[in-house]
Amino acid sequence: MYCRAILMHMIKHSTSPNSATGSHRTSVYIGRFAPSPSGPLHFGSLITALASYLDAKANNGTWLVRIEDLDPPRESPEAAAEILRQLETLGLFWDGEILYQSSRLDDYQSILDQFNKVDLCYDCDCTRPQIKAMGSIYDGSCRSRTRLPADKFARRIKTTNKLIEIEDLVQGHYAQNLERDTGDFVLRRKDGLIAYQLAVVADDDFQNISHVIRGFDLLDSTPRQIYLQQLLSYQTPEYAHVPIITSDQGQKLSKQHFAESIDVEKALALIITALKYLGQKTPQLNDFSDTEALLQWAEVNWDIQAIPKLATISQESLE
Ligand code: GLU
Repeated sequence: MYCRAILMHMIKHSTSPNSATGSHRTSVYIGRFAPSPSGPLHFGSLITALASYLDAKANNGTWLVRIEDLDPPRESPEAAAEILRQLETLGLFWDGEILYQSSRLDDYQSILDQFNKVDLCYDCDCTRPQIKAMGSIYDGSCRSRTRLPADKFARRIKTTNKLIEIEDLVQGHYAQNLERDTGDFVLRRKDGLIAYQLAVVADDDFQNISHVIRGFDLLDSTPRQIYLQQLLSYQTPEYAHVPIITSDQGQKLSKQHFAESIDVEKALALIITALKYLGQKTPQLNDFSDTEALLQWAEVNWDIQAIPKLATISQESLE
């Protein structure tokens, strides 16, 4: 058995980018939009971008863009540039430099090394069918195996039998017991790539993110992220998970499902439709001739409480 207090102390004093300077996050609002460059933005991702942009701006905050390019086989080389061009056409101008996750691999590895050092991680070579047979909640069966060459195995972090709770700004109370609900989860995949859960926690801290506004599909990842933040003594941001737009058949719009990419020429109309999905007041299209004025109007009228507390909204329901 390891002593959690000692582990947390060790990790805190060796990995946190903030701990080096001893700085503490202030109450300044810093939001972010963090697309994976697997294709151009589609209407579903526009909703998330708009919600995170407007919430940041309505709170006099900073809005950052992070390109989550950690999975080259699933990415297209032009997608990041295309996404940025789309954001610009929509008038969603970001603050500061874009952060590319591919530039942060050494930092992710050093966090992993810290977890390894204190025996919080272990190798796992279980196959997908094996994990499926466990009911998709990893049963920890590799925990007690002797250590094997790491590069051929996924690296999992040990979870604990403790309830992790959040008050989501849109969805309200949400809780998971990681041991029971997800099991030990992967920080480095079998193919050697760093897992989203580790990178997102590292970067939300690195960029001092205070508010994470993103799609409902990531609500169930949040307790895992909070668990890592707690181990690393990082601050936990506020979270708001907005509904996912589904196709008429109830499928999530995703690049993999060949959802149409947004037509940026119709920026004004798209923003107004997106506001409708977000439960916001919507103006008349011909009241505005440019996205800047429309976004300013939307910022003044922004009400996060009005966002529907739903997992999904069907695309046809508002047309
Ligand atoms: N990269 C993720 C996506 O495109 C979003 C991650 C996040 O917002 O935490 O769905």
